[in-house]
Amino acid sequence: MKNVLIPEAGNGMNFYRANLHCHTTISDGKKTPEEVKEMYTEQGYSVVAYTDHNVLIPHDDLTDENFVALNGYELNINDPFKYHAPKRKTCHVNFIALEQDNVTDVCYHRTAYAKGNAKLYRDQVKHDPDAPDYVRVYSGDGVSDLIARGRNAGFFVTYNHPTWSLESYPDYSNYNGMNAMEIMNFGCFNQGYDDDNGRVYDDLLNQGKKVFCLATDDNHNRYPDGDPLNDSFGGYTMIFAPKLEYREITKALEAGHFYSVQGTTSKRGPEFVSLEYENGKVFVRTTGVRKINLISCARCKDRMVVAADGETVNSAEFVLKEDEVWFRIVATDWEGNKAYSNAYFVKELDKK
Ligand SMILES: [Zn+2]
Ligand SMILES: [Zn+2]
Repeated sequence: MKNVLIPEAGNGMNFYRANLHCHTTISDGKKTPEEVKEMYTEQGYSVVAYTDHNVLIPHDDLTDENFVALNGYELNINDPFKYHAPKRKTCHVNFIALEQDNVTDVCYHRTAYAKGNAKLYRDQVKHDPDAPDYVRVYSGDGVSDLIARGRNAGFFVTYNHPTWSLESYPDYSNYNGMNAMEIMNFGCFNQGYDDDNGRVYDDLLNQGKKVFCLATDDNHNRYPDGDPLNDSFGGYTMIFAPKLEYREITKALEAGHFYSVQGTTSKRGPEFVSLEYENGKVFVRTTGVRKINLISCARCKDRMVVAADGETVNSAEFVLKEDEVWFRIVATDWEGNKAYSNAYFVKELDKK
């Protein structure tokens, strides 16, 4: 049976451009939440997840018929013992509320973990007054416990910028339960880090972890608009959903109804037109790109369709081999920007 993994736009299915990682003056960003909404809607975005550091502050006043402000926050767990600060490992995780009114911090601490202006807002954060302070522990179990708390409390949980965090396989291979990981983080890119984390994603998938991947801005807007180091608009997610409502968007996140794009501050990256799977075959259509790759857990031949110099390709067909338990697609344009599909586990597709 045919599985439509990314549908063509139309027939009641709409694509919404989203930035799922963002900082404002509520923590260490330079723009107010209102300014962020204005600049992103001007660029055609419909969704921004507000994920200021460590304080869960709702932004429902910004949500209207053309814009959804997802309520969230970013939690960091620092390795307290090893090395001095620039070499200290850390793990950053975003919690995005699946229900708009779910704004209770389930990892609340009365005195610790504020960053930038966040401490000024700590008293506004909804929390259980009888719960003891939650102490974050930098370890596989500690991070997995934090993730589980978020998931159990109704949050979409993402594992952020492993490269910037100085984390490697012995660290992230012990993190369990996240919904998604950042395959690309534009803010980290623009600080000079190689947060193009396809290999990290593959490592998690090879462990059997059914995780989605996101490209995000993680914008702080420390550089002026138009500056080449500005960290807005370069990492985004295209979410497909029947309509632009808070819960429809978060349902799409839970279901993996999105793909991710790396562009630049001034130019959108390549995009998918459709992605389908049927009886071991994968059919891809994209905007014009230099190459389309199928990435999987196995070493198989003929996993790339590539254009001749000066030309583009916009479709590819791959026949999966028996050993290819999961696959994902990356389309790369001539400027090196990419569209990343989520990974799909073949057995699950064959069940449908
Ligand atoms: Zn972070
Ligand atoms: Zn961040």
